[in-house]
Amino acid sequence: MVEKIRFESRVTDLILAASTIKGVVLHGGESIKANKVILATGHSARDIF
Ligand SMILES: Cc1cc2nc3c(=O)[nH]c(=O)nc-3n(C[C@H](O)[C@H](O)[C@H](O)COP(=O)(O)OP(=O)(O)OC[C@H]3O[C@@H](n4cnc5c(N)ncnc54)[C@H](O)[C@@H]3O)c2cc1C
Repeated sequence: MVEKIRFESRVTDLILAASTIKGVVLHGGESIKANKVILATGHSARDIF
């Protein structure tokens, strides 16, 4: 497993398939695949919710 911290990387979309999370899309359009996603964007991140 490759572990990375991506600073200055805004999540703009979630990738879903059959109501299951498959990853996220970053502001620049890059997709990151993941079987689990923890949303910890704080209480004011209305855009992502
Ligand atoms: C003025 C002020 C003073 C406070 N003082 C205290 C205190 O003294 N003691 C205390 O216990 N609590 C205090 N709090 C509350 C505390 O700051 C919050 O409870 C805590 O920071 C919440 O942590 P969090 O990780 O859930 O969210 P946050 O700290 O808000 O972190 C969320 C992170 O997600 C990032 N993010 C958001 N959207 C995206 C996205 N789409 N893609 C990628 N990243 C994203 C944000 O940039 C941010 O870095 C204070 C809050 C404020 C506003």
